[in-house]
Amino acid sequence: PLTIISGEIEVLLKKERTNEEYKTSLVSIFEETQNLKDIVNILLTLTSTNDKQIKKDFKKQDINDILLKVYEEYFFIAQKRNIVLDIESIHISTLYCDEILIRSMFTNLIDNAIKFSKENTRIIVDLKDKQKEVIFKVIDEGIGIQDKQKEFIFDRFYRADESHNKKIKGYGLGLSIVKNIINLHNGEINIYDNKPNGSIFEIKIRK
Ligand code: ADP
Repeated sequence: PLTIISGEIEVLLKKERTNEEYKTSLVSIFEETQNLKDIVNILLTLTSTNDKQIKKDFKKQDINDILLKVYEEYFFIAQKRNIVLDIESIHISTLYCDEILIRSMFTNLIDNAIKFSKENTRIIVDLKDKQKEVIFKVIDEGIGIQDKQKEFIFDRFYRADESHNKKIKGYGLGLSIVKNIINLHNGEINIYDNKPNGSIFEIKIRK
């Protein structure tokens, strides 16, 4: 975000601009500062306190409610790109967790599924409550992830296939944050190929 913000300002200062141009640039700078704020807040939570401190503040949450809110927010974002965001099932599931972090996990995975999908495809969101764990899945029909890239996509700032990604916004931080959040909640994440196209992200968190 900082590169985008300083780049935008640099271009703006090069010569006189119309009011409209100033306004468009300011909107884009504002959006990037919001993104930056979100990233900094989550990174601060994940790095400034130790795991024990964060876990001490875990509260019993209906994570189905948290997921439904994220789903509603992203339904229209997907629709704008002609992507159907569907629910397979959302079981009532309670977990001792940090609400903001769990929301960020749902948001990152659904946001990625939309970003890396093409028009006229479908994304399925699924939350199942089992005896000992909750299982959350996001299934997309998008561009998929090559086997050799799977081991790196949780690394900070890693973006598979930069050339492809130039057109798709992002900083390569989302999945490293997701992985941190899952570790904090005694969970695991697996990625499978969806057939014929796309990826399946599966998260299991022990109750
Ligand atoms: P960002 O989305 O900002 O690039 P992430 O850390 O969330 O960063 O993801 C890292 C990389 O993993 C992405 O750049 C993309 O190459 C790949 N990726 C993540 N989710 C998906 C997905 N659902 N389908 C295809 N590729 C994905």
